[in-house]
Amino acid sequence: MTGIGIDIGGTKVAAGVVDQDGGILATDRAPMVKDSHETMLESICTVVDRLLAQGHEKPNAIGIAVPGTVDRDQGIAVSAVNVGWRNLPLVDLLQDRYGLSGVIANDGNAGAWGEYAFGRGKDTQNLVYLTVGTGIGGGIIDAGRVVRGSGAAGEVGHILVNPGGPLCNCGVHGCLESLAAGPGIARRGKQAAAEEPTDIVRRLTDGNIENLTSVTVRDAADEGDPVMQAVRDDTARWLAIGCQICHQLFAPECIVFGGGVMQDGGRLIQDIRNWYQQLAGSPHPNIESFIRLAAESEHSGIVGAAALVLQPER
Ligand SMILES: [Zn+2]
Repeated sequence: MTGIGIDIGGTKVAAGVVDQDGGILATDRAPMVKDSHETMLESICTVVDRLLAQGHEKPNAIGIAVPGTVDRDQGIAVSAVNVGWRNLPLVDLLQDRYGLSGVIANDGNAGAWGEYAFGRGKDTQNLVYLTVGTGIGGGIIDAGRVVRGSGAAGEVGHILVNPGGPLCNCGVHGCLESLAAGPGIARRGKQAAAEEPTDIVRRLTDGNIENLTSVTVRDAADEGDPVMQAVRDDTARWLAIGCQICHQLFAPECIVFGGGVMQDGGRLIQDIRNWYQQLAGSPHPNIESFIRLAAESEHSGIVGAAALVLQPER
């Protein structure tokens, strides 16, 4: 059995054929042409057509991960701000075209499901997944099921950790995302560098603090810049607070971190573990296993989407 996983982003569509063990047989991608619902659907179908033309075993179903809210039962992308979708019946449209059944999910939930089905949470029944990049997405698996609550549960990035803090994309001040996602790290980095300029930051930003990004913070911290190390330490502290809240609410077996910001040679994840051990009343007896790094691959979004249909939720 194989499935197609479609990972929809703000600027591109990535898709792949995945086997029932989560192995990738083929992948392809195309830019998302966002002129209308029709052009966006064509962007998706372009990639799927090319995959089907490669002649792999005919896929049994299609899983779709969307950066927004979905109605899973109706197969509808309800709202995806980055792509400009409103109430798009994506599952029906793809079924009409390819004769394959489909499942749609929010991309954070799909990512969590992928980690549960095939990834670093394979040995568990309960996990929390966070992906830290330009935002913080996430999902929660409890007793082998995605936690949805009355709708969009699992938005770990929008846990309020610092009321009155920086303005988040969702309109609230002080969400975890506003502090610990890439742009939030950059903002704190700029503040710190303005107060205490260092030669390393000056060199990495060509003397212009406006060039400072979360990557600058990472690289300067790696070079031993104490100011940027403090910024990284603060990022870890906010994320550890998020972990502590998730632990109290869901008692997961593990918390899995993915996303570009985490790809720094394992330093941030170790700082999160250290902060967690300080903040959580009693230290976790097996912190390395409790707070884990996702097996990061450029295709993890595709595998997560395909996991929706290859290991369907009971
Ligand atoms: Zn928010």
